[in-house]
Amino acid sequence: MIEYKSESEIELIRESSLLVAKTLGEVAKNIRPGIKTIELDRIAEEFIRDNGAVPGFKGYQGFSGTLCISPNEQVVHGIPSERELKDGEIVSIDCGVLKNGFYGDCAYTFAIGKIDESVRRLLKVTYECLWLGIDKAVEGNTLGDISSVIQQHAEDAGYGVVRELVGHGLGRNLHEPPEVPNFGKKGKGLTLRHGLVIAIEPMINLGKRFVVQEKDGWTIRTTDRKPSAHYEHTVAVKKGKADVLSSFSYIEEALKRNKNNSLIIK
Ligand code: MG
Ligand code: MG
Repeated sequence: MIEYKSESEIELIRESSLLVAKTLGEVAKNIRPGIKTIELDRIAEEFIRDNGAVPGFKGYQGFSGTLCISPNEQVVHGIPSERELKDGEIVSIDCGVLKNGFYGDCAYTFAIGKIDESVRRLLKVTYECLWLGIDKAVEGNTLGDISSVIQQHAEDAGYGVVRELVGHGLGRNLHEPPEVPNFGKKGKGLTLRHGLVIAIEPMINLGKRFVVQEKDGWTIRTTDRKPSAHYEHTVAVKKGKADVLSSFSYIEEALKRNKNNSLIIK
């Protein structure tokens, strides 16, 4: 059953979502070639706990990290490890926190140093997919309006849209109904109402849409091993305009000052 949120609940989700956004800002300050993904995870966990919250992913169904860190062909759910990030790679970093009983969820794909033009375009189009989807998250539209605009924009660019993993409702739980697929038909599905809070998170592949799970039981990667991009915001459905509860502004401010990451997508 879908739980529609009150104004005060939406504000608590905003507080959690902004803490996620600030945590990703800390990650953005520190991301560089040679850093181990487990080091970024430690930075994130310490920052979240220093701010009176709990990492949302750590321990979730047994996941070991505070962040999901998914380089290159990894789509989502990569496990932080001793692996070092390298110049020319991209990496999706997904973070959740639990504060005051409510979750926030947000993800960004970073570029390490200089990346291929074809991959830069994948990031740009995926970022655009997210914002096109958010623009549809208003009262009176349907879930299919969000899904279809994301699918259309990605497929028009020649990319594969991941179907096995989807966006979701959230609030007192990290994952709640409804599912928010990145593919679908305009006008179909649930009609959006004020108080619906959802994570919109396009996962778009440079190659084909197909994915597999690694033997670690978590990591999802593209079957063809081509790169995949992922951006996510937590959004409250409102009348006239979606209310974006998370933010990329902390990330983008940090990246402006980080010489290893000149790529800011606008
Ligand atoms: Mg997420
Ligand atoms: Mg999510």
